Amino acid sequence: MSFMNYYDILGCTKESTYEDIKRAYRALALKYHPDKNSLNFDGTEFQYILKAWHVLRDPILRAEYDVIQEQQVLDTESILIYAKVSADELEVMGNDENTLNYRCRCGGFYSLPREYIQKKNQSIHVPCLECTLLIVVET
Ligand SMILES: [Zn+2]
Repeated sequence: MSFMNYYDILGCTKESTYEDIKRAYRALALKYHPDKNSLNFDGTEFQYILKAWHVLRDPILRAEYDVIQEQQVLDTESILIYAKVSADELEVMGNDENTLNYRCRCGGFYSLPREYIQKKNQSIHVPCLECTLLIVVET
């Protein structure tokens, strides 16, 4: 695992409640406890589980951890994402009423079929046709 995510380690998500996390921790601790598994595991897994539990059990540490996680996601996205646009910033070009476009800084276009924006509250990632950038269209 190149990037250690405490939620992944415990098999939980950011939406998991304290009770969910506690239950997951107990089940994993039982499974990976070094006293019970000296033959199968070297204790590394158990160390990760303990570390994850230590942070996620504590509302303050967990909140701090969530912020760091979000920042890391944003940092990753900012390399690729050219813009976040709403569906009505997209425009029809030429005669094709069924395709919506947004102009990229490279001179290319982001195009998506009109039907994709029918469903509300979606974030659609649209790659540029010419370069490696993408936009996020919020419907
Ligand atoms: Zn482009």
